[in-house]
Amino acid sequence: MRKYNYLFFSTYVVDLTESQIEELKAEFDSMIRLDVIHDVTFEEFFSTVPDNEIISMRCLRCKHRLELSFSVYKPFIENKEIAFPIDYCPKCRMMQFVPNDVYNKLFRK
Ligand SMILES: [Zn+2]
Repeated sequence: MRKYNYLFFSTYVVDLTESQIEELKAEFDSMIRLDVIHDVTFEEFFSTVPDNEIISMRCLRCKHRLELSFSVYKPFIENKEIAFPIDYCPKCRMMQFVPNDVYNKLFRK
């Protein structure tokens, strides 16, 4: 499995499913048909699609764990606006939802 390492946490990449690839092909076909893009092969188009990057998150309060798409957090991490994602826990609704790696560091596991 491919992994990306950030300063305080890591993420991993999952392969697109067959149906996701089919959707991309349909999108590509309609963009070619509508002349939105031209002189581009599907392989070239496909290489521009962002990775399915996943982050494992855990709640510091209730220990709820969830795998989430990293795409919502990624721009803030890349701009160095935040050191790691922190969000509302979907279970206890406290602002305590952090990467599992951060959780493990704090609890020294
Ligand atoms: Zn929680």
